[in-house]
Amino acid sequence: MSRQLRVLVMSTPVGPIGSGIGGGVEMTIRAIASGLVALGHRVEVVAPDGSAAVGDVMHRVVGTAQPSVQLVDRSTRVPSPVGSVLANMWNLVRSRCTDFDVVLNLAYDELPFREAPDLARPVAHLVSMGSLTDAMDRVIDDTLRLAPWSVAMHSTAQAATFLRGTAATMIGSGVDVEDCPFVESPHADGRVGFVGRISAEKGLRDAVEACVQARRPLHVWGYRQDENAWNDAIADAPPHSVTYRGFVTTEILRSQLGECAALVMAPKWTEAFGNVAIEAMACGVPVVSYRRGGPAEIVVDGETGRLVAPDDVPGLAAALCDLGSLSRHACRRRAETHFSTQAFARRVEAWLQGVCGRFGRVDFSGTPLSF
Ligand code: UDP
Repeated sequence: MSRQLRVLVMSTPVGPIGSGIGGGVEMTIRAIASGLVALGHRVEVVAPDGSAAVGDVMHRVVGTAQPSVQLVDRSTRVPSPVGSVLANMWNLVRSRCTDFDVVLNLAYDELPFREAPDLARPVAHLVSMGSLTDAMDRVIDDTLRLAPWSVAMHSTAQAATFLRGTAATMIGSGVDVEDCPFVESPHADGRVGFVGRISAEKGLRDAVEACVQARRPLHVWGYRQDENAWNDAIADAPPHSVTYRGFVTTEILRSQLGECAALVMAPKWTEAFGNVAIEAMACGVPVVSYRRGGPAEIVVDGETGRLVAPDDVPGLAAALCDLGSLSRHACRRRAETHFSTQAFARRVEAWLQGVCGRFGRVDFSGTPLSF
């Protein structure tokens, strides 16, 4: 029997949990918190002010939000000045950490990586995105060099974007499958869903084009992070071919996703995982995606979806016309066996137990970090 852990989770500082600004990280935190609590662990969460309640106790912190880094230049360094929510969250983590066995960091920022070796408790870093900036590569690779056991990633494709990424623990992701209603028969009009932040790297433009070619209506759910990306995506689409369903709560999203014949994903970046893929599968919806990043590791081609060559829009359209052999039951089964909150929490638990076990046995002195 594994020992009970007291876990202090540091959320993303880009926006409150529930705002959508944090994208998949928000769902990851919910899944980890509910999964670990169900296993008997204690979970407290440090998150920006305005966050929805997650875990046993919430610590809501004020301050200026961090900008999202998905579209910045590789040479950009995102500061965390005094008064930023990131600096304030980290101060709280530093002052409270001795009440916990381990800090679980989900912030994709330099500060927690840089300061982790000086904390009185071990820090486990769950990296939420692939390589995006030189500065983040340096801190992540340094951490992987000095304490590889303290870093986890969602997929091997994500890990491969970092120099030492293969040294990280792969933990996938998870969704509370029982909260995703299984829908046996999709809507008669053959609609396809696109779910995610509306931002260039998510590939909505290709998804729209593929659906137009496949003559399937496209329904879009997601936070409109970049209005230009939306306008660009629908610029050439015929009237009524695309319906924007808004950015809705997780509960509403899951109650509507099952109506789709398929979920289309057309990532232009190395999607670290793609939580929407496992949410769709849990609802019985197969996933049609480029063979790129996390979705390529989630989807079993020909069984729970179809994978096509990256950036091949006609290929995506052909796959959307050929959904007949895919089994909605197989999608649900794969979500249950591989990506349930329970399965995910077990992987996180094993990783965190390992981090706690290693802490204190590593001497950081004399091995200066390179920043
Ligand atoms: N999402 C949501 N409401 C919406 C659209 C999306 O709550 O209207 C959530 C969805 O459930 C998923 C997240 O947004 O958890 C997107 O995560 P993903 O890992 O797919 O992409 P990311 O935004 O992290 O790149």
